[in-house]
Amino acid sequence: MEHLSVTNAQKCILESVIKLDTETVRLEQSLGRVLAEDVRANRDQPPYDVSAMDGYALRSADLANVPATLAIIEDIKAGDMPTRIVLAGQCARIMTGAPVPEGADAVIRVEDTMAVSNNSVQINRTVKPGNDIRSLGENMRNGEIVLTSGTEITPGVIGILATVKRARLQVYRRPRVAVLSTGNELEDMDEPVDPNKIPNSNSYALMAQVQALGIEPALLGIARDDPAELAEYLQRGLKFDVLLVSGGSSVGVHDYVRPTMEALGVRMLFWRVAMKPGHPLAFGIKTSPASTNAVEAHAVQDAFVFGLPGNPVSSMVCFEQFVAPALRSMMGHPRLYRRTLAARLTHNIKHQPGRTEFIRVTLAKQEGGYAATSTGTQSSGVSLSMAKADGLLVVSSASNGLAAGEQVIVQLLDGTVFQDDVGFKE
Ligand code: AMP
Ligand code: MG
Repeated sequence: MEHLSVTNAQKCILESVIKLDTETVRLEQSLGRVLAEDVRANRDQPPYDVSAMDGYALRSADLANVPATLAIIEDIKAGDMPTRIVLAGQCARIMTGAPVPEGADAVIRVEDTMAVSNNSVQINRTVKPGNDIRSLGENMRNGEIVLTSGTEITPGVIGILATVKRARLQVYRRPRVAVLSTGNELEDMDEPVDPNKIPNSNSYALMAQVQALGIEPALLGIARDDPAELAEYLQRGLKFDVLLVSGGSSVGVHDYVRPTMEALGVRMLFWRVAMKPGHPLAFGIKTSPASTNAVEAHAVQDAFVFGLPGNPVSSMVCFEQFVAPALRSMMGHPRLYRRTLAARLTHNIKHQPGRTEFIRVTLAKQEGGYAATSTGTQSSGVSLSMAKADGLLVVSSASNGLAAGEQVIVQLLDGTVFQDDVGFKE
């Protein structure tokens, strides 16, 4: 099998995964989900012309000569309906959000007026017709599509959904994700400390990466490097939409993950990517057997398997490049990739052409942009390099090294904002 480039591996994965089916959620539970339906306005909003200010509703023609003194005929608060028509020489005291009375064609804010008495006011400047009036339907018109299917639900979108009184909505389902670690050397959280063992950190770091995308994964524990035990765990994991397997995917004699997956009917699409860290990365699909039972057919889905490198840094970097875009695509998100930004490098970086490299860096704001600095030794065994990082600096596979002061691209590791394309040259 070939050695794929980062973008070809991403392409292969994104062409394989599909948007999941939809479900109904309550408005209060919908933040971060993706709409699976168009949403229409259910009324004109605002339902009538309303005042944009606390002030006076008046006839703009009455201000031909200012200062002008007008008679106040009533007080209109938000929620009141006007009871009188404003005639020449008259005005109504009006509050923000209250309906503009018939006869008036403008509002003047209270700051531009001077009280004369309780029922008359002096106006000191002219206004144009329509001044400080929010017109009927300015925000939305009844029946108009205000949100289209595929919209990510942000706080702003929640405001619109509440405006059109959608207490429940259709969104794409979240994938069910399982995390499995493999290795005889691993010691789990609840086991006593054995100085000869390696603590299982990958299950937890991967869990957090999945959670950061709004998905609660299942932890399947640790499978030993034994084909029979591994098969048992993998079988359990293949019942999920996505199975993340850490370790055992490379070419060591005890790396049983790939052959065992193949024996279980997983079709491997690739198992090597030209990147550093993260070289042995496997991706496969377990196609669900076609079911004749309609109810069952709905429940049975293809399972997508990622064989991630056991190395803690590699596993996390691979998750960011391949698993995160796949999970977002399954959830219906139009934007799949972590945000990138340009930064200036504060030091030289050595690089041999061949593989795309992801250097863990911190970012500091500086005049006109950001400065990127390596978090220290980039050995993929040093997991603190990842813990300290704000982002991954991408060194293109063709690069012969980077010099201090050069502009570089950094992929941000945190945040909820994603972008339309990968944003770097592999
Ligand atoms: P492997 O991909 O299985 O050859 O593992 C590569 C390296 O990653 C080895 O040094 C493993 O001990 C380490 N490793 C594998 N799985 C984990 C894990 N779940 N947590 C921490 N380190 C791991
Ligand atoms: Mg191993």
